[in-house]
Amino acid sequence: MSRILIAEDEPRIASFLEKGLKSNGFTTAVAEDGNGAYYMARSGEFDLVILDIGLPGRDGFSILRDLRRSGSAIPVVILTARDGVTDTVAGLEGGADDYVTKPFRFEEVLARIRVRLRDGVAPTETVLRAGGVALDLRTRRVQVGGRNVELTAREFTLLETFLQHQGQVLAREQLLSHVWGYDYDPGSNVVDVYVGYLRRKVGVDRISTVRGMGYRFEVGEEAD
Ligand code: CA
Repeated sequence: MSRILIAEDEPRIASFLEKGLKSNGFTTAVAEDGNGAYYMARSGEFDLVILDIGLPGRDGFSILRDLRRSGSAIPVVILTARDGVTDTVAGLEGGADDYVTKPFRFEEVLARIRVRLRDGVAPTETVLRAGGVALDLRTRRVQVGGRNVELTAREFTLLETFLQHQGQVLAREQLLSHVWGYDYDPGSNVVDVYVGYLRRKVGVDRISTVRGMGYRFEVGEEAD
């Protein structure tokens, strides 16, 4: 089980990341200020750091620079505001492995974390399968009953989320935060709309509506 340090001072974002990572099997801890983040990142207790640039006490760039100077090779994924991308590229030169711009979708962060944790480790299976559906995370190709199916980026992420939680009921809010991110209006019906799109492409019977609770990807028989 991988341990992720979340260095982020905005509670809403920290808890959004923490919830998502825990539901994907990671162990997490949050550092809310720069000095704490630096100390924890060096402790050897973590496998990867998600590092916000704007932290109180000490900014992310300074933490990163000192980590690398001290010889730490811990993978670092930077979180940055969209208008700070130029700075961030400088940050990458300073030894970060990757960056994500705010606002971000959870799946973007998760994808980067998975790639970083995979570096130097044996390659893992990148194809998710269930009920005759195969989704390749690396090539982004989707097959249903052996036929290629074209999905939009959002539909792909939605299907990926379903396949990672096969047979489980996923609440609308869960899907909204996983696929659309924390900046999305919880009252939006966008989840229902996209489940409709996805059903048309992968088969209506593959995604059940569980009344009052949400949706479930069916893994039983192939619904062709
Ligand atoms: Ca911040």
